[in-house]
Amino acid sequence: MTTTATVRRDDGSDPLAPVIGLFVEYGDSEYGGEAVTQLEHALQTATLGAAAGAPDSLVAAALLHDLGHLLHGLPDDAPDRGLDDHHEQLAARRLARIFGPDVCDPIRLHVAAKRYLTAVEPDYLARLSAPSRTSLALQGGPMSAAEVTAFEAEPHWREAVQLRRWDDEAKVAGLETPPLAAFTDVLRACLREPMQR
Ligand code: FE
Repeated sequence: MTTTATVRRDDGSDPLAPVIGLFVEYGDSEYGGEAVTQLEHALQTATLGAAAGAPDSLVAAALLHDLGHLLHGLPDDAPDRGLDDHHEQLAARRLARIFGPDVCDPIRLHVAAKRYLTAVEPDYLARLSAPSRTSLALQGGPMSAAEVTAFEAEPHWREAVQLRRWDDEAKVAGLETPPLAAFTDVLRACLREPMQR
C-alpha cells in the first residue's frame, strides 16, 4: 500500500470525506440479500484485490464498486421488486469528480462484467449467488456476441472482470478483514491530480 500525507483541497475540505461518510452512515445496510453488510462486502472485495497484488487504482475500485448502492435510496431488495438500480453508473458518475478512469471504469463496468462472464464462461452462471442471478436477469442477462465484442473494446474491461471475480467471492459471513481506515492511503494515492491532492 502507498503512504501519502493527508491531502486537502484549496478550500481545506477533504475530497474523501463524502466517500468515507457514506460508508460510516450506510455501511451497515444489507448487501442485497447476501450474508454481509455493504461495508463488509466492500472490505472483502478490496482485501481480495490487495491480496492479488492489484494496483492501488483497482484496489480502490474494488472498495468503492458498490458505492452506488449507498447513493440510490432504493430498498435493499430492489431486485426482488423487479428494479435494476443502475448502481454502477451512479457510483462511477459520482466518483469521477475525484478519481480517474482507472478507478471509475472498472466500477462502471462491473455489472457488464457479470453479463460478459456469463456469456464467455459456461460454468460462471452456476457459481453466482441466488441474489446475483436475480439481478442478472434485470441487468439484461448474458451478453450477446455483439455485446461481448463491444465490452472487450471498453477501457479497463480486463480490470472490471478481475474486480467482478473478487466481488463474487466477497460475500463470506463473519470474515475478518482490515478496517476501512487501512485503505484510506490507497484511496488518497488515486485522487485526481493536481487539483485535489
Ligand atoms: Fe458487489
